Amino acid sequence: MFIRKLQWAAVAAAAVLALSACGDAGGDEDTGGKADVAKDVKFEAGTRMAELNKAGKVKIGVKYDQPGVGFKSATSDTPTGFDPEMGKIIAGALGIEADNIEWVETISDNREPFLQKGTVDFVLASYSITDERRQVVGQAGPYYVTGQSLLVAKDDDSIKGPEDLKGKKVCSVTGSTSIATVEDKYGATPAGFDTYSECVEQLKNKSVDAVTTDGAILLGYAAEDPDALKVVGEPFSEERYGVGYSKESPELCEFINETLTKSFDDGDWQKAFDATLGKSGNDAPEKPTLDPCS
Ligand code: GLU
Repeated sequence: MFIRKLQWAAVAAAAVLALSACGDAGGDEDTGGKADVAKDVKFEAGTRMAELNKAGKVKIGVKYDQPGVGFKSATSDTPTGFDPEMGKIIAGALGIEADNIEWVETISDNREPFLQKGTVDFVLASYSITDERRQVVGQAGPYYVTGQSLLVAKDDDSIKGPEDLKGKKVCSVTGSTSIATVEDKYGATPAGFDTYSECVEQLKNKSVDAVTTDGAILLGYAAEDPDALKVVGEPFSEERYGVGYSKESPELCEFINETLTKSFDDGDWQKAFDATLGKSGNDAPEKPTLDPCS
């Protein structure tokens, strides 16, 4: 068992810069996120936290095409959204400035391999905690809980919930929890793509009847094109977003949990939400209960 020596005094002394709430559906605009950076933080030698702190940089995998959750256009330097904001909070607790985060685009299907190969140090990418994933990677959290939902054309009244999906063509992403649920439980005909933005294109050109994934993601797309798209029905799964890390560094679990707890308590988590997902119509979240580190 690792004993982590983390000095929070320096964090408290650091200037508290609130995330400024600007922009709309959490798209490409700068959310102004400024996570506190723990200046004189000390970690036990030999831990991954100490290594990252010494290196002064960290690689974080996020989505690039999910407005409000994780989004980056070709012309912007850094991604925006709730996941990148939470990534800045984790980096800050390691003593790493947001400018020294190397953002890496992850899609649903490459999150485990990216962590296993060290392509990234952390994944914050609408990454539901599951027993299956925890066989191969570490997942700490959750820092957010949402549920699977449905996105349909604004003028479509034939789909009101998952029980209407039988025989319908439903787009989702390979390697996601969402695609398995609609196929296994609701008898939909799945159309699997690499990203949800591709699915939204399929829906707009009427190649599919619906797009399914977490409500938090779908509300972001609907907010970008409210004349063409709507989210329908009640959430029909529980998706608990966790921070992915390599199983080779299990000490990261306690560090992430302590960092998340601090962000719940000091308001940084709420500010990150309000500046991003809160703008695309998502309800104010409950503070999640963290899974214990085993
Ligand atoms: N949260 C779900 C998952 O991790 C769906 C969203 C996604 O594919 O990122 O599979």
